[in-house]
Amino acid sequence: MLRALARGMGTTLKMFFRRKPTIQYPFVKKERSARFRGRHELRRYSNGLEMCIGCELCQVACPAAAITVMPAENDPARPNSPGERYAWKYEIDMLRCIFCGLCEEACPTDALHLTREFELADFTRESLVYNRDRLVNKHTSDFQVPTHVYPPYSGWVPMHGPAGGDGAGAASGGEAPAAGDTPPAGEAKGA
Ligand code: SF4
Ligand code: SF4
Repeated sequence: MLRALARGMGTTLKMFFRRKPTIQYPFVKKERSARFRGRHELRRYSNGLEMCIGCELCQVACPAAAITVMPAENDPARPNSPGERYAWKYEIDMLRCIFCGLCEEACPTDALHLTREFELADFTRESLVYNRDRLVNKHTSDFQVPTHVYPPYSGWVPMHGPAGGDGAGAASGGEAPAAGDTPPAGEAKGA
């Protein structure tokens, strides 16, 4: 009896002086694994053009039907992305998403990227449906515009300023209106 008590107290003392596994979240955040997949972002090329070409492959690949993409034709004078089309409407329902990463795998241009951001809690269902404004990164990346796109890349002036410009999708002429799903003239139907 006394021996068992002493053994129990020994365990208690041992744990008492051990380094505590609890952390002071949110002031201290735990390191996540290298493979961690969090919130999505749509990246831009180094010159500010969007990397997404509205091909809808991510929408097809998503097992949770969380992605909605509606493409539209680029205006050659003021393109949103290299090539013919861009994602006029792009939405991800974070309540449906299981962060499997299949959309990222399916993306042919590396536009879609799952970041390490995980603090996505919000108060309404609507606010957890992320649209272009929240998904297209305001900053440019190191990716260069490929030269083999159609129509051929000819040094287009990007619609949006690079880092810190006018904001993702803002004042672009390619942003979805507040209501309805009517794309601008020349929208490419389907994939
Ligand atoms: S991470 Fe998976 S579930 Fe989430 S949007 Fe991408 S494909 Fe769909
Ligand atoms: S697969 Fe990539 S390029 Fe195609 S619509 Fe999705 S994010 Fe855009």
